Amino acid sequence: MRLSRYFLPVLRDVPKEAEIVSHRLMLRAGMIRQQASGLYSWLPLGYKVLMKVQKIIEEEQNRSGAIELLMPTIQSADLWRESGRYDAYGKEMLRIEDRHEREFLYGPTNEEMVTDIFRTYVKSYKDLPLNLYHIQWKFRDEVRPRFGTMRSREFLMKDAYSFDLDKDRAVAAYERMFVAYLRTYARMGLTAIPMRADTGPIGGDLSHEWIILAETGESQVFCHRDLLDKPIPGQDVDFRGDLKPIFNDWTSLYAATEEMVDQAEYEAAVPEDKRVSARGIEVGHIFYFGTKYSEPMKASVTGNDGKETIVHMGSYGIGLTRVVPAIIEASHDENGIIWPVSVAPFEAVLVNLKAGDADTDAACDKLYAELTAAGLDMLYDDRDQPAGSKFATADLVGIPYQLILGPRGLKSGEVEIKHRKTGERETLPLANAVERLKGLIEPQRMNDI
Ligand code: ATP
Ligand code: MG
Repeated sequence: MRLSRYFLPVLRDVPKEAEIVSHRLMLRAGMIRQQASGLYSWLPLGYKVLMKVQKIIEEEQNRSGAIELLMPTIQSADLWRESGRYDAYGKEMLRIEDRHEREFLYGPTNEEMVTDIFRTYVKSYKDLPLNLYHIQWKFRDEVRPRFGTMRSREFLMKDAYSFDLDKDRAVAAYERMFVAYLRTYARMGLTAIPMRADTGPIGGDLSHEWIILAETGESQVFCHRDLLDKPIPGQDVDFRGDLKPIFNDWTSLYAATEEMVDQAEYEAAVPEDKRVSARGIEVGHIFYFGTKYSEPMKASVTGNDGKETIVHMGSYGIGLTRVVPAIIEASHDENGIIWPVSVAPFEAVLVNLKAGDADTDAACDKLYAELTAAGLDMLYDDRDQPAGSKFATADLVGIPYQLILGPRGLKSGEVEIKHRKTGERETLPLANAVERLKGLIEPQRMNDI
């Protein structure tokens, strides 16, 4: 992408309405624009990151055996009356009436709708297990929308729903999602810790919140330090096999949010030098809730004994539009964002130090074509602007590598690479630039961890 032809409205000044660093940086880097309280447009750079996050989530959901579909944002009130949640949900639900005075709502979650789909089509135990997910906008009329897209009113969520014949099988489905989540966050460059959690209005008796440690987090959390650098199950993990050993291994180390923590239990379970008590951001939440929805909504299958059996369900959420600022909270410095390669809006930026100079332009154009042909996701800063301002923009928007070429380098046949994360610089022959950059970037894509 040529920056001269792109839409990247970076802000020079620090917006004063933004209280936390990720919100400030998302505004300054031209990623989002607030349209009304808790409602955001995702501008091209932000949208590109959001879609990279989405792709990782889809790949790992699919790998685990979940199947993607798409349900509407607007749902009928009657469906929610069946589960009893229409009245129970309260003011967070945005209620809508159509021209025929029929009652609708903007979905805050989809347990009812997916259960309706299930009961319509699935009749036999032979069709189980089943896990259906979608990535769709949700609306919750939060009392206090804040911190940009971290807590907005309209937000993008991946929500998966599992259906099984009995509790044991439903717990196995839960364990599959648990392992899929470990891999998903790791691929985004995040350390997300599963913590025992309260089930809240979704209900149920087995639940984990996925927490990123960050000072600006809204919840207080308590865990064992070894969870912070525990190796993640590899891509060869068998989702058709028994994942209980992995689940047990992870959950054997203490981790709980403040609603669930028992101070005495925590202190007994974790030696003093291993205790981490910190602030955390909830980037995902998984639940097993048995027959809470399938019972009132009559979602059952015929078992192999010929009897009708109410199915056991779980639901599994990831807030995509919260994950993006959470990554920034975890990875930035005083100059701006530092994207992990796997979710970076561009993997590298080619900085033309003298746009308008015929030789430099020709050399940069050629290099840009080669880099793009090599499969690198490139931004090309071809604007006629001072070098300092180009570097500042590249740092601010957090592109992992800067490849710098100007008339002087051209004369000596050399380019410079700056590593955004470490600040390290290397000078190398122009002819080696594509291979070197590929070598740096490819292993960090984490497609095959
Ligand atoms: P919170 O406690 O932060 O209000 P929640 O527990 O109500 O969230 P869940 O119903 O568990 O949220 O939703 C699943 C995921 O959706 C959350 O883990 C979070 O990542 C995301 N999410 C929920 N509410 C919001 C919001 N208002 N803005 C952005 N993301 C959200
Ligand atoms: Mg939650």
